[in-house]
Amino acid sequence: MTHTLPDLEGLRLPGSKRSSKRELILNVFLRQEGHLSADDLAELIRREDQRIGRATVYRALQWMVEAGIARKVDFGEGRFRFEHSYRHPPHFHLLCKSCNRSSEFLSSDIEALIEEIAAARSFSARQSVLQIYGTCAECRTGRPGAADSGTTDLLFARDALRIAIATERSGLEFYGAAARAAKNARARSAFLRLAEDERQHLSTLEARYQKLLARDAQLESRPTFLFFKGAANGLFAAGADEVRRGVSDRQALMIGVRCERASHRFFKRYGERFEDSDGKQVFLEFADEERAHLERLIRECRLLAKRAAHRTGRRPHHRRTTA
Ligand SMILES: [Zn+2]
Ligand SMILES: [Zn+2]
Repeated sequence: MTHTLPDLEGLRLPGSKRSSKRELILNVFLRQEGHLSADDLAELIRREDQRIGRATVYRALQWMVEAGIARKVDFGEGRFRFEHSYRHPPHFHLLCKSCNRSSEFLSSDIEALIEEIAAARSFSARQSVLQIYGTCAECRTGRPGAADSGTTDLLFARDALRIAIATERSGLEFYGAAARAAKNARARSAFLRLAEDERQHLSTLEARYQKLLARDAQLESRPTFLFFKGAANGLFAAGADEVRRGVSDRQALMIGVRCERASHRFFKRYGERFEDSDGKQVFLEFADEERAHLERLIRECRLLAKRAAHRTGRRPHHRRTTA
């Protein structure tokens, strides 16, 4: 996998000269996957250029950490390891004590909990480290596990798309159920339009997913990287159930508002947290689409309230809807 280099001019530390040695070290580092010790990298560099010493490699690594190109990780082995941070979102690690291999994952639920705890203690969190030690499936069973060597960038994009697709599916289901249950013709057509929107987004996302799979033949079978307990079944699934149990048009619209708002917030907050990557792009675009839906639903809610007020000759009862 070839990485496009970050903007080196922008990343350069004040007063540091760009040296060709450093550039070579950077290039070799960015070609590697996984977690390298400084000695591993020094060895790789030596193969390319005998004249570059260990001390130069150490200094370059230090510079990469400060410039945000590399992250230092401590797996409790008595030495640090380094991994890319460019286009590589912060993550947690599973570490096998038998084969010493590590694999990476992310969980929105764990991150939300950490944020909640830090906020409760008014602690300004800079970095959180979670390492799970144990025995991997391969060491436990002797059977080769799913290849974990895919680049995190692709895994992240794959999982972000899977979650967005699950959300669109549940949204489509929700608006379909709401349209079938609607009593008012205007509300019904609003739900039908939103369902049509979801259908279109769904096919766009599915096409994007197929395109992504074309970049790595084994992508589908690689282990899950992003875990989203709350979002796995689609953020609209509970709303669709409520509508099926029978609600008024206004209630259905309000449930839609609630689901779209939760979905918008989820994708926006999560997308913003990530560094530049395809996954981030998917999340932020999706957050925008959900915001547009939210605004349409709020307009429909107001219209419905206005018409109801008109019929009964009363002024509409304004309930504030804040996004
Ligand atoms: Zn193992
Ligand atoms: Zn890692």
